[in-house]
Amino acid sequence: MKPFTYFAPNSVEEAISFYGKHSETAKFMAGGTDVIVKVKEAWMEPDYLISLKKIAEMSGLHKNESTKELSIGATVTHSTLEKSLMIQNEYPIIYDAVSNIGSLQVRNVGTIGGNLINAVPSADGAIPLIALDGVALLHGPDGERSVKVKELFIEPYKTVLKQGEILKKITIPPQAPHTGSAYIKFGRRAAMELPLIGIGVLLTLEDDLETCAKARICLGVAAPTPMRAVDAEKFLVGKKITQALLTQAGQIAADESKVRDSIRGKAWHRKEMVRVQVRRMGLKCMEIIKNNS
Ligand SMILES: Cc1cc2nc3c(=O)[nH]c(=O)nc-3n(C[C@H](O)[C@H](O)[C@H](O)COP(=O)(O)OP(=O)(O)OC[C@H]3O[C@@H](n4cnc5c(N)ncnc54)[C@H](O)[C@@H]3O)c2cc1C
Repeated sequence: MKPFTYFAPNSVEEAISFYGKHSETAKFMAGGTDVIVKVKEAWMEPDYLISLKKIAEMSGLHKNESTKELSIGATVTHSTLEKSLMIQNEYPIIYDAVSNIGSLQVRNVGTIGGNLINAVPSADGAIPLIALDGVALLHGPDGERSVKVKELFIEPYKTVLKQGEILKKITIPPQAPHTGSAYIKFGRRAAMELPLIGIGVLLTLEDDLETCAKARICLGVAAPTPMRAVDAEKFLVGKKITQALLTQAGQIAADESKVRDSIRGKAWHRKEMVRVQVRRMGLKCMEIIKNNS
């Protein structure tokens, strides 16, 4: 492994300024579960690794009780999210996703920001944040800007982040009443496995607790970047949710997915899992809504 200098600034400004002086040879790092593997394997040979872990404003997890907006700092670890009662109770789709990432050791250091910016099609953390209409706050040499989490991804391993830009936090707008959400990472094993396919569903019902007011169906490993099955979402809105309707939505989502064969799985199998799991996750959302009403 090529030696590198480790620098851990205390502020975003300091990190950006240091990066600016060494941009050709510097790399940001949070938990390092992706970066360090690449450095060890010499896929990446930075002279400087800039750790973001000491930056206090990037590490908070809190919900604003008046605006009901949830704020997740980019360096919040998967374990912190998994253990949070607020996440477990109010954002089950996040809990479902992060509690199955890698192993306990990976979750203890791996961060939600690193998961997004690594930008692999199988990133478990991306799907719930897209389903929840999350917004990423970026900070770079030219100041701050906001981008919807869905719009972060350009292609595998490539995001819209410019040179020297840092993901500071992700905000989740308030959720409407009668909302349920669920995610399943479908793989060959229960642990230490990237998903063969990841399926997240969020449903909001009208006050009658039957009619669909809003639907989000988000898929990982179904396209080069995390995708929304918008045809299936539109199909559900305005209709009374039944098992048969969710089955139809699953078929529509499977048809609009862009799944491919890979060494980990076949396209037909992935499509079949989308078809089946959209229904199952939809039913789980309905159960959550009924239990909370
Ligand atoms: C054994 C193992 C199992 C794994 N299992 C899973 C799994 O099941 N599901 C899954 O989704 N992932 C999995 N991963 C991948 C990885 O652990 C996660 O993607 C993790 O969330 C990455 O976070 P990190 O903080 O370690 O990222 P890092 O390695 O620190 O960084 C990843 C990338 O993001 C950049 N970066 C990090 N933070 C920021 C920021 N705030 N602003 C700008 N750029 C930033 C870095 O420069 C780097 O390019 C696994 C990894 C390992 C080693």
